[in-house]
Amino acid sequence: MQTKKTTFLVIGGGPAGYVAAIRAGQLKLPTMLIEGQQLGGTCLNIGCIPSKALIHAAQEFGKAAHWASGSPLGIAVDRPRIDITKTVQWKDGIVKKLTGGVGALLKKNGAEVVRGWARIIDGKTVEVSAPDGGEALMRIECEHLVLATGSVPVELPFLPFSEHVWSSEQALSPSSLPQTMVVVGAGYIGLELGMAYAKLGVKVTVVESAARILPAYDEELGKPVMSALARLGVAVRLSCSVTGYDAQARQVSVRADMGDEFNVPAEKVLVAVGRKARLDGYGLESLSLEMAGRCVKVNDQCMTSMRNVWAIGDLTGEPMLAHRGMAQGEMVAEIASGRKRRFDPLAMPAICFTDPEVVSVGLAPGSSPGDELVTGFFPFAANGRSMTLESTDGFVRVVARADTHVIVGWQAVGAGVSELAAAFAQSIEMGSRLEDVAATIHAHPSLGEAVQEAALKALGHALHI
Ligand code: FAD
Ligand code: NAD
Repeated sequence: MQTKKTTFLVIGGGPAGYVAAIRAGQLKLPTMLIEGQQLGGTCLNIGCIPSKALIHAAQEFGKAAHWASGSPLGIAVDRPRIDITKTVQWKDGIVKKLTGGVGALLKKNGAEVVRGWARIIDGKTVEVSAPDGGEALMRIECEHLVLATGSVPVELPFLPFSEHVWSSEQALSPSSLPQTMVVVGAGYIGLELGMAYAKLGVKVTVVESAARILPAYDEELGKPVMSALARLGVAVRLSCSVTGYDAQARQVSVRADMGDEFNVPAEKVLVAVGRKARLDGYGLESLSLEMAGRCVKVNDQCMTSMRNVWAIGDLTGEPMLAHRGMAQGEMVAEIASGRKRRFDPLAMPAICFTDPEVVSVGLAPGSSPGDELVTGFFPFAANGRSMTLESTDGFVRVVARADTHVIVGWQAVGAGVSELAAAFAQSIEMGSRLEDVAATIHAHPSLGEAVQEAALKALGHALHI
């Protein structure tokens, strides 16, 4: 068997792993990356990008369908049709471009990509076999071992994935559209994809075990989304659990916390009840690393309990977000090259790409009981740009320290607010005060004016409410 030596060895070519390898290559560390499936990982192949493509297609189709039943804008169209196979091909084209780009960037920066499945032998040695298994083809020895093996969807024991019971991966590549769908879980995936399918004309029922949708966000943020679900005709069953699926009858059995049981028609079931770190099938146990629950425990440098073994991305737990993994990957490469770095962000934006979109960065009101905070709130109903975009649902909210006015959090719900996340995160990282945002000239007409007004409101003198 061939043995290769390198300094920086990454297992996993998702956003955490490929960014680590690109940065290590830029810093001239001899670098190798092992990927058993496709470069880009969950994010580019079966996650962030394909889901946002499907959401966009559904949005455009939904708009046309809405216009067909009359439009106050004076637009008249006939009832639209969608060729979902073509939609999926278009989505696959974007995925191909981006994953090809990752390969090119790794090459450009001198990181060698090894296609195959890695098996950890010890903290400095990994064997690689063909992606479909079999005997080891190569052994790689390294100084730094970076674990970036990501996560997998949680499967419910009484609802195993099958032709009819989908994970998000299947939901992103449908060969046809079902008439009915039950979505289990009203979190990120359940609501992003559930809304998209509803816009595509599917009768969607969402079953959520918690008492409200988007339980990871504060309650106010879910309310405009709940109204939008009702407008779309999505039935939402809160405080309910799915107990099984009858594939013959094509229906899901549901039990409410209050005790009643009922069935819901479901040609397909999308199970979106969370993701878990990928821990099995590659010899991770041989390292006996300290764990944090079901995830690999790391310190603020992404160092595991074993020297020069690092873990980044979803493998290290919540929040399982691509941009967190990328930031960790970049940092680990820099530490391995001798730089002093820590992972200690003040602001980690989270966006849920529902319609309306939801953004949360930093602290929410009430989330830090020891701190005295002030908040400012501005509704898009009073924003001219929102009216011209026919999307006045939602608001911007700012959270700042009461004594210094230093901004510690932003939340927003509304059409297009995902694009405000960068400005929100920047204002927190730069230590901006309410006065800085309030005194900035925001272009008119724009959603940015609502951001300025929220800061003015927190200071007690909003101009437009
Ligand atoms: P992954 O992307 O899972 O990559 C891990 C890689 O490691 C995989 O390619 C796998 O094949 C490879 N691998 C694993 N074990 C081995 C081995 N032994 N040998 C070789 N290769 C191996 N996040 C956001 O921030 N924004 C979003 O909008 C968003 N949308 C999402 C939508 C969906 C439907 C899903 C499922 C997820 C979404 N996420 C989103 C989450 C995001 O995809 C993940 O947080 C991110 O992909 C994690 O990156 P990672 O590099 O840690 O792992
Ligand atoms: P999630 O944690 O966002 O939501 C899971 C939901 O399922 C929760 O509301 C939970 O209460 C509910 N639930 C759990 N068990 C249940 C049961 N038995 N019956 C009914 N409901 C149940 O998980 P997800 O939507 O699967 O997404 C997984 C992860 O992927 C997310 O946590 C996030 O990190 C990532 N993601 C991010 C984005 C984004 O950034 N826009 C989009 C999609 C996914």
